Amino acid sequence: KKITIAIDGYSSTGKSTVAKQLAQKLNYIYVDTGAMYRAVTLYALQHGFIAEGKVVRDKLITALSNIQLDFQHEEDKPVAQIYLNGRNVEGLIRSLEVSGFVSEVAAISEVRKKLVEQQQKMGNGKGIVMDGRDIGTVVFPDAELKIFMTASAEERATRRFKELQEKGDSATYEEVLHNVQHRDHIDTTRKDSPLRKAEGAIEIDNSALTLSGQFNTIYQLAMD
Ligand code: C5P
Repeated sequence: KKITIAIDGYSSTGKSTVAKQLAQKLNYIYVDTGAMYRAVTLYALQHGFIAEGKVVRDKLITALSNIQLDFQHEEDKPVAQIYLNGRNVEGLIRSLEVSGFVSEVAAISEVRKKLVEQQQKMGNGKGIVMDGRDIGTVVFPDAELKIFMTASAEERATRRFKELQEKGDSATYEEVLHNVQHRDHIDTTRKDSPLRKAEGAIEIDNSALTLSGQFNTIYQLAMD
């Protein structure tokens, strides 16, 4: 039987790495919901809806119906990539600029409503691994397996910093740590579906586990 697996947690806990591996192994669909919030943020930046360091909420809300998001498989890439109005934006959404505003954008109820509806349609008993912040609480509260991933902010910042460095991004460790803490704060305190451990979720603190240890733990749970 194909099940729904919801993986939630703080930013840069290694959620998406584990989620992708799991989806590949089980031959399930993988959906990175963070990429969807990031793509909406990119759209807002490109259209001047973020001005003087602030998200212009009204303009973004009015423009939401013009934003179309899809996941498409490129040849020879195992994981689907995100498209914003027909353009592959996978390479543009992980910058520190997008990261700096994404949590503000994600705190807007109208944005969440639109993306949650789309996410729920992707599920439908097809066998799916979805990662995000509200998958076990809001998107799929009936998911057969729910995981909540945690790790210290410093550890997460170190991981993100390395990733950005590999891409040639000039962000400093302090900037990255600040961004991680900033997002944690907004994600856990927003009014609309704040980040928290879902009922029935299994908590995994990945400070203590290697990547393969993490994968094996979750894979075993999925097989039970
Ligand atoms: O997972 P990732 O770090 O790429 O997500 C970027 C941001 O998008 C998060 O910090 C959070 O503010 C928002 N997000 C969300 N709900 C989700 C997924 C992501 O609010 N389901």
